[in-house]
Amino acid sequence: MPEGHTVHRLARTFGEVFGGQAVEVSSPQGRFAAGAALVDGLVLHAAEAVGKQMFLGLGPADHSPSAPGLADDLRWVRVHLGLYGSWTFASDGSTEVSHAIGAPRKRVGERETVLAAAAPEESVLAAWEPPDPRGAVRVRILSAHAVADLTGPTACEVISPEAALAVQRRLGPDPLRSDADPERFVSAVRRSRSAVGLLLMNQDVVAGVGNIYRAEALFRAGQSPTTPGRDVPSDVLHEIWDDLVVLMADGAAIGAIVTTRPEHRGDGAAAPPPRGRRAVRQNTDTAPGAVPRDESFYVYQRDGLPCRVCGTEIARSEMAGRNLFWCPSCQRDDRR
Ligand SMILES: [Zn+2]
Repeated sequence: MPEGHTVHRLARTFGEVFGGQAVEVSSPQGRFAAGAALVDGLVLHAAEAVGKQMFLGLGPADHSPSAPGLADDLRWVRVHLGLYGSWTFASDGSTEVSHAIGAPRKRVGERETVLAAAAPEESVLAAWEPPDPRGAVRVRILSAHAVADLTGPTACEVISPEAALAVQRRLGPDPLRSDADPERFVSAVRRSRSAVGLLLMNQDVVAGVGNIYRAEALFRAGQSPTTPGRDVPSDVLHEIWDDLVVLMADGAAIGAIVTTRPEHRGDGAAAPPPRGRRAVRQNTDTAPGAVPRDESFYVYQRDGLPCRVCGTEIARSEMAGRNLFWCPSCQRDDRR
């Protein structure tokens, strides 16, 4: 499942590629036909990410941007990718669009990969024909120069401004949003007897954190994942929050999660994840100079390998059905 940094990248891409333009919205698969009809032909005025959910605001061309956010005359398409959802982008290669999205990317969900470049000179000269939808495309958003296809989302619906606001208010603060209030995160954790490792995955406590950021932020704070939330000191929680703000902003900027400090990389402790386990794919996998995937994390998918800091074997167990990774020495309950 994509973590918050990917959804923020998606929202930014939508703003850059479709912002201010009238778009055709359809549902090639048919399941979103009624929803698509409500927003077809409207102009994309806003693309927002809150945690793992994206909100696309569409409205009339004369919508006033002076009333930002959830203005009354917008209809909101709410999308939650869930485990299997992904967006596929394609464009005509025109300067405008290719500048905005770098290279067209496909499957911005579990992973992002760059589409093989088409011959741009030809495609710009000829009238652009978007590629046929591939697979069960729930939503197709089409402009004069680009197309985005959504497959396999957990949620996709058109909702009113009030309903969009209600969804957003139920979510915990999102470290990637400038309007987030860290106190809400700290007090929600401090009120709970649940393990802090569980609370970090709860989107009502903090929005956008997934399994990787959960494991890595706890390691970097030296915090055991099993400590009850109410027993974790406030200053540790503030430290975790501040760390998430930096780590996730970095992830949103480069499209990959990297939590290791330079001095903890390249020590020979790098290794692929155990056989049979699918390695996380990162947007920078083929980028020259990027931190390699197997040196990007302290504990995530590193069970059985020595801790990069103390050499203790990284442990793995299940917490609420999800794999949890931690260093039993660096993250002891009694360490603080
Ligand atoms: Zn350690």
